[in-house]
Amino acid sequence: MFQDRKSNCGLVNKISTLRIVDSLAEITRYKDRELLERSLAITLSELFLSEEFRFYRVSNTVVENENRVKLSLLIYANQGIVISEQQVNDYELPDWVLNLITRAIEQRELVEHHDIEADVAYIIYPVYGKQEDIYGILLHSGKQPSFESKRLIYGLLRIYSNYLALLEESHRDTLTSLLNREILDSEITKILVSNAQFQQKCTRNRRTLDGCHAWLCLLDVDHFKRINDEWGHLYGDEVLILLARQLELIFRKEDLLFRYGGEEFVALFRTFSYEDAQSVCERTRETIAQYAFPGVGQVTISIGVTEITRQPGSSIVIGQADKALYYVKGHGRNQSCFYEDLLSRGLIEAQAVNQHTSTIDFF
Ligand code: GH3
Ligand code: MG
Ligand code: MG
Repeated sequence: MFQDRKSNCGLVNKISTLRIVDSLAEITRYKDRELLERSLAITLSELFLSEEFRFYRVSNTVVENENRVKLSLLIYANQGIVISEQQVNDYELPDWVLNLITRAIEQRELVEHHDIEADVAYIIYPVYGKQEDIYGILLHSGKQPSFESKRLIYGLLRIYSNYLALLEESHRDTLTSLLNREILDSEITKILVSNAQFQQKCTRNRRTLDGCHAWLCLLDVDHFKRINDEWGHLYGDEVLILLARQLELIFRKEDLLFRYGGEEFVALFRTFSYEDAQSVCERTRETIAQYAFPGVGQVTISIGVTEITRQPGSSIVIGQADKALYYVKGHGRNQSCFYEDLLSRGLIEAQAVNQHTSTIDFF
């Protein structure tokens, strides 16, 4: 990958080993993907002042039968300024840059282009995920970098992707491969924070909060103990695995699915309306009820849902969905109920802020 050993001014020579070690320590300090990416961008930007870095997530390598990549910009860094999570379509990039990116992905190696007239070098580094599949690309533009600079950036990216793979693995449940409950709180908190920010913007612009709604759906297998008792633990495990695969088919790629406890699952998803959320939950319940689990046959689930709006914390959100679930368990199972709906109909009492009434099993 690094045949060109001719180096120019050797930016990297000016970078002390201690600074690099400090940067590595900083990059691997975070347990959150966004913070990790942000830290990588800050590090690159500090090490290579006046250079520009764009880190894209590659979500699709072929778009509409064209050999083009679909990218979303995760992070942009230039002269110490770092902007994250902008959804920028790749088509805003000129064709020749897209072609370079496609080449880097296909050849699985760094691709360079030097615009001699403007004296700008473009270097594209592919970044790989856990299964050696393409995860993202780093687009570096600026002065022609030395061999050592490229080597350093490549090394930092490898550390980043190895660490990200470890992080992602630690966030997965070993039986079902869904996300585990460890990061559920932080995902709910992210939604609460973005709701609050959006609300502030709307208030300033005299607009109302409408459009997209976020929901937390808590699903619990009905009479799961009976399945274990009747068929044995291995069959029970198989039901959980198959249920997880069904949930992945029902929900969209951008929704988040967690194994919350033994036979309890959580889905975080967005819709444009309450009615849409209702139909997502009903479709989920129905699909599972109609699925023939090998050997075991029919298995049903109960669902408690709440909207993630401006609750004071993630535990309140979970508590509300749990309250709705508890209601379903006491009223026939194999149904989905919304906390807000039950509350407005006077069928349950409001979830108290410091009260912990949970049907959820903690390991
Ligand atoms: P309900 O309809 O009220 O939810 O009844 P239930 O039997 O599903 O609920 P209960 O909480 O009484 O039992 C849950 C059972 O799930 C008990 C526990 O042994 C079993 N379980 C928990 N984790 C696992 C697991 O990883 N594998 C298997 N096979 N069983 C598990
Ligand atoms: Mg349970
Ligand atoms: Mg259960």
